[in-house]
Amino acid sequence: MTEGGLQGHDTILRNLRRQVVSGTVSHSYLIEGAEGAGKKTLARDFAMALVCKEPQEGKACGRCSSCRVFLSGNHPDVHVIRPDEKGGIPVQTVREALVQDIEILPYYNGRKIYIVEDAQNLSQQAQNVLLKTIEEPPEYAVILLLTTSVQSFLPTVISRCVQIRLVPLPEPFVASILQEQYGIDERTAVECAAFSGGSVGKALQTSSSEEFAALREKWLGKLQHLSELGPADVMMWSKDLEDQAHMEDVLRILEVWFRDLILVSETGDTSLCMCRGQAEALRKSAARYDKKELYRKIAVLEDARTKRGHNVNFGLWSDWLLSQLALRSL
Ligand SMILES: [Zn+2]
Repeated sequence: MTEGGLQGHDTILRNLRRQVVSGTVSHSYLIEGAEGAGKKTLARDFAMALVCKEPQEGKACGRCSSCRVFLSGNHPDVHVIRPDEKGGIPVQTVREALVQDIEILPYYNGRKIYIVEDAQNLSQQAQNVLLKTIEEPPEYAVILLLTTSVQSFLPTVISRCVQIRLVPLPEPFVASILQEQYGIDERTAVECAAFSGGSVGKALQTSSSEEFAALREKWLGKLQHLSELGPADVMMWSKDLEDQAHMEDVLRILEVWFRDLILVSETGDTSLCMCRGQAEALRKSAARYDKKELYRKIAVLEDARTKRGHNVNFGLWSDWLLSQLALRSL
């Protein structure tokens, strides 16, 4: 296995390698982590080690015929199932691409791997279809379910999988990786780490994404007016937040903004703020809240993340979040 994009997850890598070496690989894994946490990289590297003909200390050799086919992206025994354009994974897909396909013997003489991306989008019906296979998998099969949250999974599915959780890494650690391994300058590295939610992959993506830069500018421009919002404005902003493609990024921007406000409120100094480009706006905004209220906003944002994992109605959720954040204390 390579460490590319998996920095900070050494214990998980060591455990998986040990399983490959000792032949104690399980049949089903539930790999949980935020967007950009490294789930796909981990699954890919694990799958490559599992189909490698001569793994070295649990890592793929990268040279055997199986590794070479894997690297070409067309390994006949490694199957990736992704959501369709509507974001769902239809029951029919699960049935055909996994439950039925898994019964066909591997092309090579080794294992057959199924990677299900965005498995949090599996409906209960789809999970039930999958359950029988997870309960009695063929000897050669390994199923890797990648998910941002395990909350939508049936307890019967969870209990039959080995759970792996890619936890967020400390921001200074993410920043140091960006500098040392990717040659990114300190200021950019620290900024991208702040918006990364503790994920090296996300931080790297942020560092080169014009789309994220535009989103950040747009929201930072708006946020200084947050405490002036009336109910109609809250509804309008809420529509913007409801856009699920950017929801995670906007949440991070909101978190960074309020953390900056606390820093300004505690120290009066904007030079250490992530949004220091908005120094004037930060100072004005910080003056509208007392400290206790600012800490309460952070708690609201944490609460919002928890609530979001519980199949909420996103419209109501974003209305609630923005009206809570818009409340001012001074
Ligand atoms: Zn190999």
